[in-house]
Amino acid sequence: MRVATFSIAGERRVGLIDAEAETIAPFDLPVERAESGVLALIERNGAGLPRTLSPMPLSNVELEAPIPRPRRNIFCVGKNYYEHAHEFARSGFDSSAAAGAVPKNPIIFSKVPESVVATHSKVLIDTNVSSAIDYEAELAVIIGKEGRGISKESALDHVWGYTIVNDVTARDLQGKYSQWLIGKSQDTFCPMGPWAVTKDEFDLETAGIRCFVNGDMRQNSKISLLIFDIPTIISTLSQGITLKPGDIIATGTPAGVGIGFDPPKYLKAGDVVRVEIDGIGALENRVSERAQ
Ligand code: MG
Repeated sequence: MRVATFSIAGERRVGLIDAEAETIAPFDLPVERAESGVLALIERNGAGLPRTLSPMPLSNVELEAPIPRPRRNIFCVGKNYYEHAHEFARSGFDSSAAAGAVPKNPIIFSKVPESVVATHSKVLIDTNVSSAIDYEAELAVIIGKEGRGISKESALDHVWGYTIVNDVTARDLQGKYSQWLIGKSQDTFCPMGPWAVTKDEFDLETAGIRCFVNGDMRQNSKISLLIFDIPTIISTLSQGITLKPGDIIATGTPAGVGIGFDPPKYLKAGDVVRVEIDGIGALENRVSERAQ
């Protein structure tokens, strides 16, 4: 099942996508419930899905991020593909490099909820703040069932589904501050979408992940190549932190980010970044300079 949060005539709705027909059928949800986006479905706790209303063309609606304003920070994993761990350690911006290129345990940081934007929304560069903006294509896990002290064996029982995140990063700020939050949480730095898929429709073993900048392929890998797999990430995070329905975990990015090139290929105004994950779809955002 592919579900999207969208707006039409200024009202937020949640709908079921028919990818072949290119339509979306809104769920019959009260307006105030639809405000939380796909979370309104996740939180029904086995009550089943609401009925759907008449489908409409996808081209008639404006997609929003599946969970437009997460209830708390997006959990993120750093350096979680081998080749990327090495390219980042070489870049000089890795304030964690002293511990070795490949981490012994998952590196966890977060992005603030207000950094989330939809597909086709602009990623804004503030040239007064950073001159080294980079892209990171990532699979994001959406938690469906609350849990604490979750074992690796039962971790996937807590997953509701998946979406795509572009973990946009100001490399100069990431390098300057040993905690990465400032460089990762700038306004508009968490494009998410274009929609969410339930876990039964997504194959962690075979899915490919790619990133294109202006049509030029920069990243091309497989989700199965994660250093710390999704059960390990969920188990690690939930030791002492209760994971809740609607929590989002960005799982890390493969090699090919802008700082992996010599000289680095940073994003500039006018660039279009497209992240594709097999079985989900494509998240596409144009970069623009923030008006001063
Ligand atoms: Mg990342």
